[in-house]
Amino acid sequence: MKPLVLIVEDEVAIQKLLAYNLTAAGFDIAQAYDGEEALTLVDERLPDLILLDWMLPQLSGIELCRRLRRRPETQHVPIIILTARGEEPDRLRGLETGADDFITKPFSPAELVARVRAVLRRVRPAFAAQLLTFHDLSMDLAAHRVFRNGREIHLSPTEFRLLRHFLENPGRVFSRAQLLDRVWGSELDIELRTVDATIRRLRRALNSGPDDADLLRTVRAEGYSLDLKLAMLPSDIAGK
Ligand code: CA
Repeated sequence: MKPLVLIVEDEVAIQKLLAYNLTAAGFDIAQAYDGEEALTLVDERLPDLILLDWMLPQLSGIELCRRLRRRPETQHVPIIILTARGEEPDRLRGLETGADDFITKPFSPAELVARVRAVLRRVRPAFAAQLLTFHDLSMDLAAHRVFRNGREIHLSPTEFRLLRHFLENPGRVFSRAQLLDRVWGSELDIELRTVDATIRRLRRALNSGPDDADLLRTVRAEGYSLDLKLAMLPSDIAGK
């Protein structure tokens, strides 16, 4: 899944500029025009990063920042504050807002995108990597291609997203419900067995060579993980 950036900004022109450039740079975006709206959107889907304008109507940027830092689920979401020239980022830093970076308006869109990437790279290295690898498997995120042992593997968009999720979290076991939530997202009427069927197809696509070890581990009653440590039973490889 693309990283989600929540833009909190009351000026329509700047909202549009930010939305346009972040979308073009490959991010998903959510847009809030005041602090209350931002809190509502955060509840709907947790962003990977928040771009927060300092001067907002009603709930101020600093108050919103404090509230986000108080809530366990948003405590560690990186925040970049947008300030107008003359608002002195150094002074704002001293306020212990917990922000990760400051950008002064007017800013160049290219610089802004670079700063967003830099903060994400620091807190979530997997987002910034253009190449995800595991054992003899590699995923080129820029070109949207997957290779195993030099052989290209063709995947459907859902299979690609599922594999990407595993590659970003190698060795971790995910339940079918967690995979549904993280890979299928808000498509509410998808059934759990869809996960099993997609895993089966992904496994078949990944293990098409005669010497391929099965990289997808089925953990009985738990879920699935990308793992090479435990050998698979033949019945699992067949996709039972
Ligand atoms: Ca403003």
